[in-house]
Amino acid sequence: MDQEERIVNPRRQMEDLGLEVGLRPRTLSEFVGQEELRRNLEIAMIAARARGEAVDHILVHGPPGLGKTTLAYIIANEMGGGIKTTSGPVVERAGDLAALLTNLQPRDVLFIDEVHRLPTVVEEILYPAMEDFRLDLIIGQGPGARSLKLELPHFTLVGATTRAGLLTPALRDRFGLMLRVDFYSPEELVHITRRAAQVLGVEVDNEGAWEIARRARGTPRIANRLLKRVRDYAQVHGDGRVNREVADAALTMLEVDQLGLDRMDRQILLTILEKYDGGPVGLGTLAAALCEEEDTLEDVYEPFLIQSGFLQRTPRGRMVTSRTMEYFDKVPPKGSYRKLF
Ligand code: ADP
Repeated sequence: MDQEERIVNPRRQMEDLGLEVGLRPRTLSEFVGQEELRRNLEIAMIAARARGEAVDHILVHGPPGLGKTTLAYIIANEMGGGIKTTSGPVVERAGDLAALLTNLQPRDVLFIDEVHRLPTVVEEILYPAMEDFRLDLIIGQGPGARSLKLELPHFTLVGATTRAGLLTPALRDRFGLMLRVDFYSPEELVHITRRAAQVLGVEVDNEGAWEIARRARGTPRIANRLLKRVRDYAQVHGDGRVNREVADAALTMLEVDQLGLDRMDRQILLTILEKYDGGPVGLGTLAAALCEEEDTLEDVYEPFLIQSGFLQRTPRGRMVTSRTMEYFDKVPPKGSYRKLF
């Protein structure tokens, strides 16, 4: 299935770009949920402000769509600095990073998304920049090469990653603070949906927000996207107001069920049930059976299925759970899995 078409894909898509800038909370107090993270970040920022310094370099890790980029903007805003943003795979050469670093002001945030994907040559420039606020560059090649050393302003690097385990230890050790973002509770997502509705000028009652929240897979980005689709549906099929019936009808039409599962999730679970007797089945075999990339399966589809108790990762492979069987008992598939149990 084309990832770009999938309404419950947690990764940022083209349709999110305009929407997200306006909906992003600007201060830590507007940032919903993640209590422990907020507490830790707040202490670090208050202490740094009291010392008149930039806050320590921060690594934010966790699944896509949970607020990592938003936090980088909040940190810049709360520390009274600006922000420059880039992404690991985009910074190809040492010179690209040098250009970014030399344009920073004291207390600015440099945000690097997908920081685990920085090329090694770039990462090596980053070490002294993070540790001593120093840029060490070699200019030219061969006997004519000379080294250039530059002092940098005290900035804060905010790195975001969906895969903290893929960071080199050398880079990981240079972050003073590690923050983990987790999936949100339905109550928190109701809050986020209602706030977004207010910003967008859409009238949504509590039950309408609940319908959206419980299908949003613990992910604010998905809640915002579903809200936008429900708003369009309400305008075309109703008077523009969103209540339970309208939200339910719109989301059922989009094939997102009440637990937030879409067609692809059901296909993954059914493949394990019907083709592999419920599992265990290896990631490679499953990916081939579904015509999907292993990485996509692991990063995009599985986290939610595991977190919501439909799928288990075991040393011998992926397995479905009793919750999956209950789910298909209520929504029986066309296939024959019943015979297998
Ligand atoms: P990530 O960088 O982790 O992929 P983003 O920071 O881009 O995620 O968040 C996606 C969108 O979700 C943001 O534009 C924002 O509107 C919303 N969002 C994320 N976290 C929160 C939160 N805690 N409170 C309110 N809205 C949030």
